[in-house]
Amino acid sequence: MTPSLAIIGAGMGGLTLAAALHQHGFDVRVYEQAAHFVRLGAGIQMSPNAMRVLRGIGLEPRIRATAFQPRSWTNREWDTGELTNELPLGAEAEAKYGAPYLLMHRGDLHASLVSRIPAERIALGKKLVDLDWRGDGVTLSFADGTNARADAVIAADGIHSRTREQWLGAETANYTGRVAYRTTFPAALLKGFSLDECCKWWGPDRHIVIYYVTASRDEVYFVTSLPEPEFTVESWSATGDLDTLRGAFTGFHEQVQRVVHACPSVHKWAIVDRNPLPRWGEGRMVLLGDAAHPMTQYMAQGAATAMEDAVLLSRCIAATGDEMPAAFRRYERIRRERTSQIQGTSQQNTWMRHATDADWVYGYDAWTAPLDPVPSHAA
Ligand SMILES: Cc1cc2nc3c(=O)[nH]c(=O)nc-3n(C[C@H](O)[C@H](O)[C@H](O)COP(=O)(O)OP(=O)(O)OC[C@H]3O[C@@H](n4cnc5c(N)ncnc54)[C@H](O)[C@@H]3O)c2cc1C
Repeated sequence: MTPSLAIIGAGMGGLTLAAALHQHGFDVRVYEQAAHFVRLGAGIQMSPNAMRVLRGIGLEPRIRATAFQPRSWTNREWDTGELTNELPLGAEAEAKYGAPYLLMHRGDLHASLVSRIPAERIALGKKLVDLDWRGDGVTLSFADGTNARADAVIAADGIHSRTREQWLGAETANYTGRVAYRTTFPAALLKGFSLDECCKWWGPDRHIVIYYVTASRDEVYFVTSLPEPEFTVESWSATGDLDTLRGAFTGFHEQVQRVVHACPSVHKWAIVDRNPLPRWGEGRMVLLGDAAHPMTQYMAQGAATAMEDAVLLSRCIAATGDEMPAAFRRYERIRRERTSQIQGTSQQNTWMRHATDADWVYGYDAWTAPLDPVPSHAA
């Protein structure tokens, strides 16, 4: 009989995994705490390693039709605009990596992933409060008082993973002392002022990344990193103060000034990460994406690595057969080194400021990366 698999969390990692497993013919069900999906104002960069994942689950044409493909990613000094590094993207990157580098609205990516999974496979309004994976199967208990059973469980429940907390105990995420303001807004509000297609403006102790998120360039996105040691709230809905944001970028280049003055509203997050874990699960339970290896956004690889995880895990499950613990241990052994390296590199916040070798990140193909041998003691 096909084993039943429960996935906690319908974020980028959980949905990619559900799509890949569904494609392999597995009995999979996703449990998401949100009662419905909301298109929040955020952009997301899909580098070639992420686009290869999306290609393998049949989403490339849909993403290409809506996303923006920049000709390059520029890095500039905050005030003079002097170019410190330019990474060619567009056709050049596509020829080099065999997949495009695209920029898009996070909501568009999320909706695309949802479209690859039959609706009855995603249960909304299911906030996991308790998980028991130590018996013959797993039992999930939700805040609404209901339970579910499965043969194994994958926790893709994000940086504040309930599963991770239950397994390893409560541990506060590392606050970097910095906050991200981010939003998307209509490009028409710039009144014809033209921007670099994708640019990171590097200041002495702060930066801002600005890019278009639609093929028609009618929507602009920015995300900042600013020092604010006292801030602690981390929520998708914390509203940022526009005057504070604008004041923080006084003296920056005109492109930055125009953008922060044109945006009508902004959200604010604490920038947090965690240290790499020596193990990602035990028995019939395993972590995936931010639940396993949360990172700062400075390389734009959090979702990309969660999606890579999903492909490798689906391949391990398909290759290992019914033995879920063995498949899970195999997957985590394959994925730990790469994700730890990206977590560490991201922390430094130097990626692309000057000439950077990106091949080890963008050249990765999750569909063909070698699978380790099956571990002999998979517990
Ligand atoms: C400012 C910023 C900019 C970023 N930009 C990029 C970028 O350009 N490119 C990129 O690749 N990455 C980017 N990232 C990182 C990326 O957003 C995350 O790494 C990615 O979303 C992780 O995916 P995930 O599926 O592991 O977790 P999430 O996307 O966080 O999904 C977790 C899901 O689990 C659900 N959940 C949580 N707890 C429970 C529970 N108890 N029960 C049920 N469901 C639960 C949540 O509601 C959510 O839907 C950025 C992050 C930030 C903060």
